[in-house]
Amino acid sequence: MIEHRLEITDLDRRIWEEELADFLPEQLYDAHVHVYDPTHCTSTTDDEPTEGVTWWERPVHLMDRTALDACYDTLYPGRRLNYLMMGWVYRRGDWDAANEFTAAQTADDPRSVAFMLTPAAFDARHVAETVDRLGFRGLKPYRWWADDENECRITDMLPEPLIEVANDRDLVVMMHLGKSRAIADEENLADLERLTRQYPRVKWILAHLARCLVAWPLEEAAPRLRDIPNIWFDFSSVTSTDVFMAALRNFPHDRIMYGSDFPVDLMKGQYIGWGKAWAHLTEDMIKQMGITHCDPRPTFIGYEMLRGARRAMLNLDLDRSTVEDIFYHNAVRLLGINH
Ligand SMILES: [Zn+2]
Repeated sequence: MIEHRLEITDLDRRIWEEELADFLPEQLYDAHVHVYDPTHCTSTTDDEPTEGVTWWERPVHLMDRTALDACYDTLYPGRRLNYLMMGWVYRRGDWDAANEFTAAQTADDPRSVAFMLTPAAFDARHVAETVDRLGFRGLKPYRWWADDENECRITDMLPEPLIEVANDRDLVVMMHLGKSRAIADEENLADLERLTRQYPRVKWILAHLARCLVAWPLEEAAPRLRDIPNIWFDFSSVTSTDVFMAALRNFPHDRIMYGSDFPVDLMKGQYIGWGKAWAHLTEDMIKQMGITHCDPRPTFIGYEMLRGARRAMLNLDLDRSTVEDIFYHNAVRLLGINH
């Protein structure tokens, strides 16, 4: 069986050896990673017009625990790993089968945990029963399963009956925020203020540093967001040093966690910002640019993320134990793993 299709070039190897190998701690808790079996995807080309139905399969056809470990061995050799795993966010899928698959990947590892994919249409009793039966530690809603995939509010993705289930069971919610202004949106901030007050036992991970691939939304939101309780962040897919600087300057360092967002960060390219926008600059786009004045080859987004994190952490003189907390202990504490 093919575990992955990752190709390491001499450029990737140089970036790893010269910039990252000495920086990345030996023990990692990947607090945002996807596992999947493509047979659970029921999307058609009509459902996924922009990305294509199987773009997420490109680096790894089937992502189970073995494939995950193999990706780490290839990109980040010599590290010890535990994972916060969730299924992949297909536009349409067999969610129950995908959730069973995710739970099975953590079976041999008491330090790894699984989160349950929870489309907005899921019934609260079904969620509660599945969480109890399969031992999920958190919920993973997503904007593609809300009525308006771009301008959806938090409760459009995760309706309040499901938040109540999370509150009753002390679950963590992995929240990839919607809306074009992301965390700088007034409704997103107001919703987080209200929901954390009304459901005080829910802990929230705001994925991708509150979905800030560029710095301005986080800089704008920080004064209010700082005062909201029960908020953690993973920095998967964030590559901009400015965003890391904004996060590390504005929030307690024990609330910030490493995450890989595999399979996304196994792609090559970069996230770029302009105006009030941001986007994934893909390998194909870079090829079309026909650049000749320098080596135009992109590297893994995961490497670009670590470059951004490293520059910010060096600029801010973070001590080694804080760095190690961010890459491992903060997640262990949030998830209550004590063995
Ligand atoms: Zn993700």
